[in-house]
Amino acid sequence: MTPALPVAPSPIQSYLDTLHRAFSGLSHGQVATYIPELAKVAPDGFGIVLATVDGHVYEVGDTRLPFSIQSVSKPFVYGVALEDCGRARVEQAIGMEPTGDPFNAISLEPGTGRPLNPMINAGAIAAAALVAGATEADRLARVLGALSAFAGRALDVDAAIFESERDTGHRNRAIGHMLRNYGIVDGDPEPALGLYFRQCAVRVDCRDLALMAATLANGGINPATGARAVRSEFIEPMLSLMTTCGMYDFSGAWVYNVGLPAKSGVGGGIIAVLPGQLGIGVYSPRLDERGNSARGVAVCQRISSDLGLHFLQPPRPSVATVRARYTLQGVRSKRRRTPAESRLLDGLGQQVEVFELQGDLRFATLEPVLRAIVAGSALMMVLDFKRVGHVDGGATRMLAGLASRCAALGQPLLLSRVRRGDLLAGLDGMLAPQAIRSVTFQPALDAALEWCERRLLARPAPDGAARAVLPLADSRLCRGLTADELVQLQAQLRRSQHESGSLIVQRGEPADALYLLSAGEVSVIVSLPGGGHKRLSTLSAGMVFGEAALIAGGQRSADVRADTAVDCWALSAEVFERLKLEQPRLAITLLHNLLATASETIGRLTAEVAALEG
Ligand code: GLN
Repeated sequence: MTPALPVAPSPIQSYLDTLHRAFSGLSHGQVATYIPELAKVAPDGFGIVLATVDGHVYEVGDTRLPFSIQSVSKPFVYGVALEDCGRARVEQAIGMEPTGDPFNAISLEPGTGRPLNPMINAGAIAAAALVAGATEADRLARVLGALSAFAGRALDVDAAIFESERDTGHRNRAIGHMLRNYGIVDGDPEPALGLYFRQCAVRVDCRDLALMAATLANGGINPATGARAVRSEFIEPMLSLMTTCGMYDFSGAWVYNVGLPAKSGVGGGIIAVLPGQLGIGVYSPRLDERGNSARGVAVCQRISSDLGLHFLQPPRPSVATVRARYTLQGVRSKRRRTPAESRLLDGLGQQVEVFELQGDLRFATLEPVLRAIVAGSALMMVLDFKRVGHVDGGATRMLAGLASRCAALGQPLLLSRVRRGDLLAGLDGMLAPQAIRSVTFQPALDAALEWCERRLLARPAPDGAARAVLPLADSRLCRGLTADELVQLQAQLRRSQHESGSLIVQRGEPADALYLLSAGEVSVIVSLPGGGHKRLSTLSAGMVFGEAALIAGGQRSADVRADTAVDCWALSAEVFERLKLEQPRLAITLLHNLLATASETIGRLTAEVAALEG
């Protein structure tokens, strides 16, 4: 029996426990009293929650105690306004400048009357006025639905808090009328005020706040439910305004000391967001003179410095983007090559550069790769994406730029193993028309290497002379034949020439001859059971096709088409039967060579199947 391990909390949990203990004695500040119901709140509630972008929650203290969200609702309702009306309309009604004034200041832009930002009451009331819905109930449902999606559970309005603010919120009512005066709110401001008072009275707990923050950190998808709470394009504006305006007239010091987009509320809650990493929720209802949770500010400051969360800290260097870099001289495709082709590739291989990339591609990680490409002198380039995670918009644009450069230089650019959806979708739209023809997508790295090899081998000889026909002696089929036997064989072969595109062997025809390719390339094509065709392989000079004719006879099982002008030697089954009797050694050597090639093919297929299953 394995002895049970003693139970011990995670270091992060222990850290939060210690933090909570360290700050539990901090009791300066007062609960808000200007909304009568808030004055009744127990002043010493204290919870801290940290939620990661993969949905793990660490919590300590009063994390399930309900309280009113108050101004923490503002960035979320601003997001609703952006979704419902679009950026242009929202920007017309609400600015994006910090005021340096308290949250309830009547700071409207001189001239236009536009509230300076959506985090102060004036801007938040203007945002509430932009929420879509035919009736007040519809608009409330829209706001509650959005806040609930961020929290990952159904939230409701605390009626007592709502009524308390509705009956006493004369200053906010005055702001509403100012907005109407400037035409920022059309008609009666009361419905927008009603929605605003209700959104502020939404009941949350500290855990909800952390998950709402983590949803912002996670690009708008709630990490616990997996449901999208806001369109990803609006995360940036929401977090930007939280950064510059979220803590009102304390925002400058907050960014300086804590360095996280954040939002506070007079209910005692604070959220803080580290994009891509985590969300923090703190609850402690005693407020400082600016209306921010006094203990919440202190705790956030400590967490940020202890855990190194300031968002302007330079990101740690990640792994090198280039996982492997080589040329075709060192690494070849799995395609079998004749000795003559291998010699040619030995000489030309360094003209093809392969970069196997890894990690996320963004400006900082892709830039060194582009620099290496520009400094190099390759004629063709393969970029392999197998281990690439995310490619952001900026990196996609730079890849499109690389394609344009390749097109201008006449360099083929091969992108292998790009997963559809992430890179491909964006890149297609960004490629300049003339760049499209330089880019080739390959499903496998091996296919990309083979593509480049074929290009190298197809290039005309340097002096422009036509490519020589491969001598019979250099083909695999003739290995081991004596000079005499070669001459005798040659006499039995029929020369067969084909134009590019023509069919050399047709499926279903009698298999009556073997072909030995001496120049050009052919493709073996099979028809698929469900219709359509599939290229099985491509063969080049020195290789054999239709060999079943000599062994099994019967009918052709596939089409063979000339991809280029093709020169072949044909050995008919009839002639071979005669050779077996008259030249048994010659016939045995040919059969031996055919068998050797066939078993190599079987070996390669076995390895491929094993790789598929692995
Ligand atoms: N409902 C509160 C008000 O309008 C919200 C203010 C706040 O949380 N800072 O006064």
